[in-house]
Amino acid sequence: MRAITTMPPKGGVELSDIDLGSQVGIKVRTYRTGICGTDKEIVEGRLKFARPESGNSLILGHEAVGIVEEPDGSSDFKEGDIVVPMVRRPGSCRMCQLGRQDYCEDGDFVEAGIRGKNGFMRDEFTDYPRFLVRVGSRSVLDLAVLTEPLKNVMKMKEIFQFLRMRLPWYCEDSTLSCKNMYVFGTGTEGLLISSVFKSIGMNVVEVNRHPLGENVMDYLDYNKIDYLDTSNESLENKVKDVPMDAAIDAVGAMDVLKEITDNIRNNGIAIMFGTSGQLPSSTYEVLENIVDRNIVVVGSVDGAKEHYAEAIRFIESHGASLQMGRLITGTYKPEDLKVFTEKEKQEIKKVIAWS
Ligand SMILES: [Zn+2]
Repeated sequence: MRAITTMPPKGGVELSDIDLGSQVGIKVRTYRTGICGTDKEIVEGRLKFARPESGNSLILGHEAVGIVEEPDGSSDFKEGDIVVPMVRRPGSCRMCQLGRQDYCEDGDFVEAGIRGKNGFMRDEFTDYPRFLVRVGSRSVLDLAVLTEPLKNVMKMKEIFQFLRMRLPWYCEDSTLSCKNMYVFGTGTEGLLISSVFKSIGMNVVEVNRHPLGENVMDYLDYNKIDYLDTSNESLENKVKDVPMDAAIDAVGAMDVLKEITDNIRNNGIAIMFGTSGQLPSSTYEVLENIVDRNIVVVGSVDGAKEHYAEAIRFIESHGASLQMGRLITGTYKPEDLKVFTEKEKQEIKKVIAWS
């Protein structure tokens, strides 16, 4: 069969005629495969973790939709069913075994078309039912190729909804209609993010550094998504009128993180998604670690009354057993003002006794 292959980590791309021999699982005829920035990075030899399943070449393609051609009898998939294959396949860690390989704990997974597993840019593939997601309606056959990038957005939405629950982060009418989400990046992922967050009632501002093509502007206009072209108007100026309550980066450049943290409101929520491999620097590694390892970075200052009360309960229940008294290394009279300038040996906590 025909397959689009590359030679990672070197890259390159070619259409080859390949024979993978007999395969087990459900045979699926590929209907569509999407191309995204990751594919391009692999082809350009810029994605350092790209690797073949075996030998030297890797079949590309992780965004796909296909039609079941030969069910294997092990599941209720039937001939003609529309299916989307999952990209990441579990390793042996606890989260992988729970089906949450997106939160893999040790990196021992493979990803179709990216690392360690052949992708779907080929005439047909076989797969286990566990990794195939059925598309119920034939009317979305063409759109279903967007399932893979859209699933990323659904995870972002889940994280966002979880984070905003830490405080009454909504408007006076309990909706999100007064909240502004800035989305950096106007590629497929950025536009999907904008659409989803618009759909939950937020006001969305797309951001990029140049004017957009007419088709993208039409899409944004139709969906009532605002656009900020920072070559025309600065972000600093925009947030004066439209405050940044939340932001999602789908670009993957470290300076976007800087722009977000400079401009976001207090108590804001920033979610980083992109990891562009174009900035091989220590700051890029920070971003890569945050994104690829699902690291939660969150700001925090001060505490509420309930935190005070909880602190007291902790001391009451644990103070003696933990010997917390050892933390207090000196008790001084109010007039011992040297406590403010001199540091004692073994000093931990100095206290002033007032009575
Ligand atoms: Zn794992």
